[in-house]
Amino acid sequence: MTQKNFSIEFYPPKTPEGVEKLRITRAKLAELQPKYFSVTFGAGGSTQRGTLETVLDIQREGHEAAPHLSCIGSSRDSLRAILNEYKANGIRRLVALRGDLPSGYGASGEFRYANELVEFIRAETGDWFHIEVAAYPETHPQAKSPQDDVQSFVRKVNAGANAAITQYFYNADAYFRFVDDARKAGADVPIVAGIMPITNYSQLMRFSDMCGAEIPRWIRLKLASYGDDTESIKAFGLDVVTGLCERLLAGGAPGMHFYTLNQAAATTALWKRLNLSA
Ligand code: FAD
Repeated sequence: MTQKNFSIEFYPPKTPEGVEKLRITRAKLAELQPKYFSVTFGAGGSTQRGTLETVLDIQREGHEAAPHLSCIGSSRDSLRAILNEYKANGIRRLVALRGDLPSGYGASGEFRYANELVEFIRAETGDWFHIEVAAYPETHPQAKSPQDDVQSFVRKVNAGANAAITQYFYNADAYFRFVDDARKAGADVPIVAGIMPITNYSQLMRFSDMCGAEIPRWIRLKLASYGDDTESIKAFGLDVVTGLCERLLAGGAPGMHFYTLNQAAATTALWKRLNLSA
């Protein structure tokens, strides 16, 4: 199991208190010895310095850090400047995305899709970066069809992506089917499963509506039935997600990427149940 790739995602904190809190969270999660920590990047501007600062903090603490980089709303010049800054700081891994513009943000920039960003990164920096891209086992919400979405994924791989991380999902069959479809379409890179621990019912429903991840009816109804009983939600969530991860690992998933929402407890509990550090 040790050759599989386990990584952890944060978002850049917006306040000094958030920075301090994330430092504590990170120290706890570092004990699990993930392969790397990634840090999200807000399309259109808001958190961009925060991504760099968080990534540099992670590096200073001696861990591998992977900034996310999204291209929608950006110019070639601004992305070139960011890439050069990462390169100068010895960053070797990136998660390359299209991103979603905040509503009301008009400028569309010089890129339309993530494959164009991957192409640009390769043209500018050759093989310097290990590039991860996004994959959608349940189909990206804006895709014309599942087949079209697989083709979009293949374009990112052909543009030079080394690996992929999926959107989160709770249906293992959707993941296995997507991996099969991607292989048949010629994309042969590792497709790491994105895992969202379940700790909060209303937050999960909100995120899932936005990103198109399905919460199966039986999970939704069970979570709703617990009302404000957060301990039961967490215990049930841990059971469900542990079962999902076990199936994914047994079925050949090359690794897992944990969406932590800057919290340590749920990811730590999952990691320990799955014995991932062994
Ligand atoms: P793309 O691969 O470009 O796909 C976007 C849509 O366009 C898909 O529907 C695709 O099928 C379609 N498409 C692609 N190419 C074409 C084409 N040539 N013609 C027609 N249609 C096409 N967002 C952030 O803002 N910051 C982050 O840090 C961030 N991190 C993420 C990390 C992971 C692991 C994942 C899974 C998502 C992340 N996101 C992040 C969200 C992501 O930006 C959104 O899901 C976004 O809507 C799509 O990004 P993408 O890179 O998958 O886009």
